Parts: sequence; structure tokens; C-alpha cells
Amino acid sequence: MKKWDGKSVYQLEQRRQRVHNLDIALSELGRVRNEARQSYLDELGRILERDPRNLELGSWECEGSPTKSCVYDLSTDERDDECLFCEQPSERK
Ligand SMILES: [Zn+2]
Repeated sequence: MKKWDGKSVYQLEQRRQRVHNLDIALSELGRVRNEARQSYLDELGRILERDPRNLELGSWECEGSPTKSCVYDLSTDERDDECLFCEQPSERK
């Protein structure tokens, strides 16, 4: 069996540990990000008087929208075909 150099193995372990710690930080960041997104959707739902669980955020710019982007309500518009403000679909050519 090959004998590994002690110092190299130590440095390798340090780097492995760093990757592991960053994985944990990313996972925590993802959780915090999801909470922030949920809070945003809850507030949007409150403003629009709609269930935030049904709201879908579009990516098109939308002048009449409080988010400045299209918003769809999937409870009445399953296929995000009609923005609540400009009535445009989410998929456009
Ligand atoms: Zn729109």
C-alpha cells in the first residue's frame, strides 16, 4: 500500500472540509432564500387579495403589475395564459 505524505493528506483534508462547509452554507442560504421568496409571495398575495400558493411570477415586464412583471393565478389560469394585469401569456414568440 502506498504511504501518503502526511502534510499533503492534511491539506487534502482541509480542502475537503472547506467544500463540505460550503455545501452546508449553500444549503442554509437556499433555505433562507426560500423563506424570503415565500414572504414576498405572501405579501404579493395580500396586496392582490389572492392565495399566494396559486401565484406564479412571470418574467415579462408588465407596466400595470405591482411587481413590474407579469403575475399569473394558477387557480383560475392553469397554463399561465393570462397575466392578471396585461392578459398576456407567459410563453410568447
Ligand atoms: Zn403582464
